[in-house]
Amino acid sequence: MFRKKRKVQGDETILSLARIVGDDYILYRKEDLIAYECDGLTLYKGMPKAVVFPKTTEEVSQIVNYLSNCNIPFIARGAGTGLSGGAIPFGGEVIISLVRMKKLLRIDYENRQAVIQPGFVNLKLTNSIAHKGYYYAPDPSSQYACTIGGNVAENAGGAHCLKYGVTTNHVLGLEVVLPNGDIVEIGEEGIADRPGYDLLGLLTGSEGTMGIVTKITVRILKNPEGKKTVLAYFDRIEDASYAVSDIISVGIVPAALEMMDKTAIEGVEAANFPVGHPKDLAALLLIEVDGITVGIEDEINEIVEVCRRRNVREVKVAKDEAERAKWWANRKTGFGAMGAISPDYLVQDGVIPRTKLPEVLAKINDISKKSGLRIANIFHAGDGNLHPLILFDAKKEGETERALAAGSECLRACAESGGSITGEHGVGIEKKEEMRFIFTDDEIEAQTNIRSVFNPHNLLNPGKIFPSPSRCAEIKQEIITNREPVIN
Ligand SMILES: Cc1cc2nc3c(=O)[nH]c(=O)nc-3n(C[C@H](O)[C@H](O)[C@H](O)COP(=O)(O)OP(=O)(O)OC[C@H]3O[C@@H](n4cnc5c(N)ncnc54)[C@H](O)[C@@H]3O)c2cc1C
Repeated sequence: MFRKKRKVQGDETILSLARIVGDDYILYRKEDLIAYECDGLTLYKGMPKAVVFPKTTEEVSQIVNYLSNCNIPFIARGAGTGLSGGAIPFGGEVIISLVRMKKLLRIDYENRQAVIQPGFVNLKLTNSIAHKGYYYAPDPSSQYACTIGGNVAENAGGAHCLKYGVTTNHVLGLEVVLPNGDIVEIGEEGIADRPGYDLLGLLTGSEGTMGIVTKITVRILKNPEGKKTVLAYFDRIEDASYAVSDIISVGIVPAALEMMDKTAIEGVEAANFPVGHPKDLAALLLIEVDGITVGIEDEINEIVEVCRRRNVREVKVAKDEAERAKWWANRKTGFGAMGAISPDYLVQDGVIPRTKLPEVLAKINDISKKSGLRIANIFHAGDGNLHPLILFDAKKEGETERALAAGSECLRACAESGGSITGEHGVGIEKKEEMRFIFTDDEIEAQTNIRSVFNPHNLLNPGKIFPSPSRCAEIKQEIITNREPVIN
């Protein structure tokens, strides 16, 4: 990754940053920076000034202190899997990559906590504690790559967050470098609640605009005694949607309750982890229950009964762990699988009240017809977190713009149903304008005022989350067309 034993040559900023991290841990040549022009949202691109790779909190603090004194904007970056463009520069920012800060610092089984550095990859935490019968609950589908620092910034969710909660429900303490370089501790190990404002809750999900997380204490959970996984095939998407609400309303909270529609099934079956779903299905549900073994059987029977009442074509229980893992691999690689049926795709992320599923899915279908673009739906149905995947071909004139407009329409449909414009991927660059679907100008201003308490000069990740009056849409357009944007 890094060129060994090289001598950095650059302007005063590059030389100063190199003095902090060492010559081998800074990238500043254009050819090296290209990989950092975007994150998982590849529609927008901007060239950073440099990327630095600190090893310690003190180095992060020195970098931040130097940059803020020079009035140079900067962005924290984990694995760069974000889907709303949170780690994308507009041009000229310094990216502070946390990937070298990837140690598991401490595991405390007695208090059920782990302390990790921000660059620690999500799945590695569960892998590191599995031999003791423990796991880390938030499981984004990108968990094999994304970092826990990035998860904290985005308040990441995952398939099993329906029952166990999203990242914010598992963060117990943070060490944070503030935008002036100060190092602060938030939260207290071992103490579940403390007086005063919930700063942990505020920082978690702040999309890297309030501070750079350099150490995290998270809750770890004991593996459930047992788990069972059900696959239910439906001929009508409405039946699958009603079954979702019915399952919850009979009093079951499954560990996971996921849905895929016909187009999504076509994609996952054409990609690397097919399981042999029938090609003519309208929708499928992947449902997992866990807990005490005796209770699981009853819940499974009840779920099967609910699905039958909703005209399920076939419902089956995974016969062993291998089959369960196969079903999950098929689901968790679902976004990437769209590459098997479309040259490009845009992942959207909205939330709706669960009971509005049939209505909103019908609206998304209308948006698909109107835009002339196919839309696949793979999502966390149990918590109403939709992921419409808009399939398009960027090489075809006007399709990118149509895909973006269709994505925005999907979010409008979510907002109009009483939901929200993001469930877990954040606002980033992508959904700034759509913030207006759910917040008034006053509410947006109140939130930027809160950001200013932590980030008074807006040097940390500027231009993200909040629309700036009338300029936001233009900036997005300038980035798509690779013109130099102006950041307000
Ligand atoms: C195939 C695929 C599937 C996905 N599935 C899910 C899913 O199921 N659930 C889900 O929630 N997300 C999902 N995502 C989105 C993404 O993986 C998550 O948002 C993840 O939390 C990002 O982590 P990262 O390390 O890649 O962060 P990055 O993309 O590097 O950064 C994301 C944001 O966090 C900030 N940031 C990063 N590190 C820090 C830090 N240490 N301190 C402060 N700010 C920081 C960045 O500035 C940026 O704003 C998926 C993405 C892909 C590509």
